[in-house]
Amino acid sequence: MKIAIDGPAGAGKSTVAKRIAKQLRFTYIDTGAMYRALTWNAMQKGIDLNDTQALTALAHSIDIQFQFTPEQQRIICNGYDVTSVIRSPEVSAAVSIVAAQTQVREVMVKAQQQMAQHLDVVVDGRDIGERVLPDADFKFFLTASLEERVARRQLDLINQGYQVDIESIRQDIIQRDRMDMERETGALKILPDSIVIDTTGLSIEEVCAQILTIIEEGGHAI
Ligand code: C5P
Repeated sequence: MKIAIDGPAGAGKSTVAKRIAKQLRFTYIDTGAMYRALTWNAMQKGIDLNDTQALTALAHSIDIQFQFTPEQQRIICNGYDVTSVIRSPEVSAAVSIVAAQTQVREVMVKAQQQMAQHLDVVVDGRDIGERVLPDADFKFFLTASLEERVARRQLDLINQGYQVDIESIRQDIIQRDRMDMERETGALKILPDSIVIDTTGLSIEEVCAQILTIIEEGGHAI
């Protein structure tokens, strides 16, 4: 079974996807972490983030692994544990520039499809329902008000030890959503077969319960 979860930044996709995957004993694939790892690696190497050719070559050669522990999922890039560093404000501010490049996306989408092949998966991102898993059994689109998404992202960053002011988080989210929605390929959008869940005012438990009910009932919008 394949479950796609798309939505804007800070909508709670990864937290929800992780829980759903655990509950169903499926594999969770965080595609945002893959774009973030690629961006981090490009920055480390001093690659110009608008140099599509260099980024595409890097996307072909990069080694990104997910390591699962009972507690959490760790992201290993070329042998380094980058779980925390890829969430830094610097990487967050740069990732949508890298992710907007069509050729780069082609390589990433193929890698994601290969990972998901032969597995029961919950995959979250922006273009999962449209590009990565167009035949997914369920396509969810999670959203929430801007203010709630900003507050959630602020809490995430504080929990990870980052000191960030709320206005810069708001600007990062607005900017990233705009770039993610306006790009040529793999743009974030609600699909005709998306099941939209507005998570504003809902707890993680409530969102997960809604999703699991829909999956169990094999149904669609509620
Ligand atoms: O999900 P997360 O916020 O970590 O994703 C970081 C960025 O990676 C997004 O803002 C977007 O630019 C890019 N991304 C993407 N396609 C995906 C997943 C993430 O373009 N499937």
